[in-house]
Amino acid sequence: MVKTGIGRAHPGIEAKLRTDKFKDDFFALLEEDINELINPYRASFATVNCPCCDRRETSEAFVKGQFSFHACPSCDTLFINPRPTIETLDNFYINSKAIVLFTRELMKNEKARTKYIFDRRAQQVLEFLRSVDMADGRLVEVGCSIGTFLEIIKEQSRFSVEGIDPDEAACRACAGKGITAHKTTLESFKAGSARYDIALNFETIEHIFSPFTFLNKINHLLKMGGYLGFTTPNRHGFDMMVLGRSFKNIHGPCHLNYFNVDTVDRLLERSGFRVVQKLTPGILDVEVVRKQIAAGVAPDVPPFIKYLACDADDRQRSNFQEFLGQNRMSGNMLVFAQKVGKAGE
Ligand SMILES: [Zn+2]
Repeated sequence: MVKTGIGRAHPGIEAKLRTDKFKDDFFALLEEDINELINPYRASFATVNCPCCDRRETSEAFVKGQFSFHACPSCDTLFINPRPTIETLDNFYINSKAIVLFTRELMKNEKARTKYIFDRRAQQVLEFLRSVDMADGRLVEVGCSIGTFLEIIKEQSRFSVEGIDPDEAACRACAGKGITAHKTTLESFKAGSARYDIALNFETIEHIFSPFTFLNKINHLLKMGGYLGFTTPNRHGFDMMVLGRSFKNIHGPCHLNYFNVDTVDRLLERSGFRVVQKLTPGILDVEVVRKQIAAGVAPDVPPFIKYLACDADDRQRSNFQEFLGQNRMSGNMLVFAQKVGKAGE
């Protein structure tokens, strides 16, 4: 069992989690969804400040697909601007054929995802909680899906676990595992008088119209001194830095915000949190870069990087991936923060 947040490269894991056929089908459907569910509402797109530091003056970095990506000169966050409104995004997520396919794939792959993603994630969260001397309490996962992560926490700790997810089938799956899941969105969720000790969300804030509003709402759910933990792509990670705009993970309208491990603190401080720990436990960077080079969709990759990703042996690639994880240079970050004040305005 992996005890730390640092992983080794696992060639082939990516393929177990997401097949090439699935990805091709997903992007084809997504294009149709954008034409049907997003483009008719382009006139209502909203111009936003930097979602991390709230700076107003930002400039276009590039256009990809049908979306304009801006980069913040102050904190280097990359984000879609202007972006679809909350109403347009809600309608997109309810009616998107690509998202239906994605959810089906998640359910089909639950075993592989448990092994490679959720077990590690649960150990990382439990290790963090041990490090702050928290052995029990109320834990909530926002966007709990079918409860894979919560089930592991429930089995391996004394925390009482709950989830929040707007999807009915997901909540039913949680109930089948004996987990309370509230069928609602975070925005509409009423926590009652008892607040939570820890709130978690995984791969969520990159999708949210306003991460600031989202974190403020989480702040409301937490006791003072309680903890927030989340994962999100790290724009300063190896895969995104090497592949730049050609990185397949950069796509609208699903991913609106790409924060980075160096400046994400600014968003948290605005929302009443103090960052306690930042890790980059990603294990797929080298493999992701290799696959994009092999598929011919990684232009201008320097020879050494190409050698490293494609020609080096498994041990060298594995060591390099470990180096990325240990030095906060992997493409996925895990952040823990403590509630130290009330939500910002
Ligand atoms: Zn910024």
